Amino acid sequence: MQKEAISVFDIFKIGVGPSSSHTLGPWRAAERFLKEINLADVVSIEVKLYGSLAKTGKGHGTDIAVILGLNGEDPVTFDTTILTQTIDAIKTERKIKLAGKAEIVFDAEVDIVFLKKESLPFHPNALKFIATFKDGSVKEETYYSIGGGFVAKEGESSSKAQSVSLKYDVHDADELLQNCMRAGLSVSQLVMENEKIWRSEDDTRQGILNLKNVMFDCIYRGCYSEERTLPGGLNVARRAAKMNKLLLKNIPYHSFDEWIAAIKNTDRSFTNTMNWISCFALAVNEENASFGRVVTAPTNGAAGVIPAVLLYYHLFASGTEDENIIQFILTAAELGSLFKKGSTISAAMGGCQAEIGVSSAMAAGALTECLGGNPAQVMQAAEIAMEHHLGMTCDPIGGLVQIPCIERNTMGAIKAITASQLALQSDSDLMKVSLDTVIKTMWDTAKDMNSKYKETADGGLATNIPINLPEC
Ligand code: SF4
Repeated sequence: MQKEAISVFDIFKIGVGPSSSHTLGPWRAAERFLKEINLADVVSIEVKLYGSLAKTGKGHGTDIAVILGLNGEDPVTFDTTILTQTIDAIKTERKIKLAGKAEIVFDAEVDIVFLKKESLPFHPNALKFIATFKDGSVKEETYYSIGGGFVAKEGESSSKAQSVSLKYDVHDADELLQNCMRAGLSVSQLVMENEKIWRSEDDTRQGILNLKNVMFDCIYRGCYSEERTLPGGLNVARRAAKMNKLLLKNIPYHSFDEWIAAIKNTDRSFTNTMNWISCFALAVNEENASFGRVVTAPTNGAAGVIPAVLLYYHLFASGTEDENIIQFILTAAELGSLFKKGSTISAAMGGCQAEIGVSSAMAAGALTECLGGNPAQVMQAAEIAMEHHLGMTCDPIGGLVQIPCIERNTMGAIKAITASQLALQSDSDLMKVSLDTVIKTMWDTAKDMNSKYKETADGGLATNIPINLPEC
């Protein structure tokens, strides 16, 4: 049977915050729709947002993502420092240049419709594009943002259900483990073999090092940001830069390399190390909440966990070489793909266990392999991390990816390191709960969860904290 083939670069995608499902996915959907129509003949475009995209779309920047996607901007390269001025210009002039080429009249306030009371059956994150042409004809397409920036068009089961034959089929954790044992490969070595179906080993290595650069650059930016509060109206204070300053005890630095050297020279006590891990995770998610450039890992809301654990490994454990980084990212990606195949990485389907839980499991397994664990211990670490995130709800206050999201990344990172250490100290033969079992349990739990805890801002903290935002 042909199995879904997911590459490391499907799990880790460079994009713009604050949400992979509510920002990156709709952005990509807009780009895809434009490729299906004759731009020169378009007179108007209307976009309808449904379900979770409508309920938390304002706070998650869905309208902004759709506008930028229609305007032909690329989330990988778009200069995020001009985001506000680009959006303001389009809104004020009420004109948009489709794919950067064909200008039409577009009033974002009218042409993007938030249908908060309507949902489409296939997935809670749905959006419909309706183009009207000069001859009066109309073309409509519906897309689903299915988590982690993946997009499926109506009728497709998955945007990346690729029909390629990998060297090693991996449908679930047990098959991954059996393949590793039979071939005598670590998880990362097996993944590298599979990646060769898409590109050369050298290109995969370069691509991964580029991901690492974007992740570390995001931490660095978050650690020196001079912004005091996050956008969106909640006035949430940014904390990473303050924490960075305190931890460095005023050691000066003028570049990323000097900053890294300065951290290496700080006190490496347990408390300090924990504080650095939290600082790294906060930095990424504060950047994410500020529409900064991040890497989905596997989502934007959970984008801080893996970079924080990776930088911890790089600075405080033994992961100093490029080789170590590549091993970490390959292993993490494979574990993320197991969750996507067996459960979900969409908070609108599974709550926060699908975001922070999955990223923590990915980081736990990756760190375990990098610290010398065998494939069974890698699975065990991922299982432990997820087991202790089961049932975690998604209830962002004001529909913004800020509270509880940002702090949750620090928790996910710390749990990942603890899970890794537990697995490394344990005999995996004595394990009672397998990774496949916990993935199935996560999916069962997701199906049982009340929809108000699935990225709707209709339950939990989102309803128990009084706020007064203009619109969310
Ligand atoms: S609560 Fe969790 S799943 Fe929900 S938006 Fe925040 S990080 Fe994402």
